[in-house]
Amino acid sequence: MESNRPRLIVASNNENKLREFDAILGRLYRIISMREAGVEADIEENGATFEENALIKANFVMRLTGCAAIADDSGLEVDALGGAPGVYSARYCGRHGDDEANNDLLLERLKDVPAPRTARYVAAIALARPGMEPIVRRGECEGEILFARRGTGGFGYDPLFVCETGQTFAEVSMETKNAISHRKRGIAAVLAALEEERA
Ligand code: IMP
Repeated sequence: MESNRPRLIVASNNENKLREFDAILGRLYRIISMREAGVEADIEENGATFEENALIKANFVMRLTGCAAIADDSGLEVDALGGAPGVYSARYCGRHGDDEANNDLLLERLKDVPAPRTARYVAAIALARPGMEPIVRRGECEGEILFARRGTGGFGYDPLFVCETGQTFAEVSMETKNAISHRKRGIAAVLAALEEERA
């Protein structure tokens, strides 16, 4: 069983993401991180869409290693802002990964917008395999943006994002978030496409 599953390199070293990929695709693939695969790279995400960025990352790792590779690209789309911050979610404030400044800017841009400030988390998942067509699927998680932060868990925009349970993503347990997250839904859609391919 162990040795029969082909390797699938996740274009990330993030433990959480690796666990999420393993939980859904572990039956079909032996999931390994970029680090375990000996890939050290800061891949430039210069695509215009989540799907393009996910495919750039998956193709990069697949070409470098000759192995199947899977990547995600995610972010927040706010309807009143025409879909912003979108692919710029991680660097909305101008610096990469400054969650506090990103949340402050989001609140500022939405200050005159009444509730409900509808939004969604989006994740595009791309699977690249040597000599085969890639599979790219999107998962979404609908919600609303609050007027002030609530909760201490999560990361990124989670304290401002109220999900379908009525709690923010910073208030729900990790199990709940992983069960309904955009990433979970995107990975599940890739699994469904793989199963369809095999049928
Ligand atoms: P990445 O695709 O994982 O690099 O995420 C891009 C950015 O989107 C993050 O830096 C966050 O700002 C935002 N984001 C994506 N998914 C989530 C989430 O589940 N919670 C909070 N923020 C997220």
